[in-house]
Amino acid sequence: MAKVATMDELFLDEIRDLYDAEKQLTKALPKMAEWAASDELRAAFESHLEETRGQVERLEQIFEALEEKASGKKCAAMSGLIKEAEELADEADESSVRDAGLIAAAQKVEHYEMSGYGSARTHAQILGHDDAVSLLEQTLKEEKAADRKLNDIAESMVNEDAAGGTGAGAGSKARRASTSKTRTAGGR
Ligand code: ZN
Ligand code: FE
Ligand code: FE
Ligand code: FE
Repeated sequence: MAKVATMDELFLDEIRDLYDAEKQLTKALPKMAEWAASDELRAAFESHLEETRGQVERLEQIFEALEEKASGKKCAAMSGLIKEAEELADEADESSVRDAGLIAAAQKVEHYEMSGYGSARTHAQILGHDDAVSLLEQTLKEEKAADRKLNDIAESMVNEDAAGGTGAGAGSKARRASTSKTRTAGGR
């Protein structure tokens, strides 16, 4: 591994990490969309996939501005987060429970991205890379919006069904479970 001795090298390292992370996500999000039972959740994954492709392009613009080759550096954290999402999708049989788990896994991804873009933006500011600041800021806003959207979906439906479906919910939630189970029985 090359030495990271200066802020410029640190910044480039961060951009390479984000570039690899986003590329991993362009492969993972279609799978997550496929596993989602809820139409709303599938649509959210599909629309964030489109945004993610744009985010890859923004990072390529940053490489260009830095006069550096666009190449990633393996983001081990993202591959771990994606692996956990895959394991969970495999382990959860009840579709509403799987959706709740997929949302939780996807929110971990968004939070990781938010912190990565936040730090990279701060470092771009310090280095006076003004174009990069605005590109990173645009992506950061999209990641925050994606996180909020997932939160809304979780609150509106999926977790409610899942709480009943596992018997974790009490009272009215448990009663609602029997109906939601029937309703989602055909889902994957
Ligand atoms: Zn390195
Ligand atoms: Fe992203
Ligand atoms: Fe990373
Ligand atoms: Fe994202």
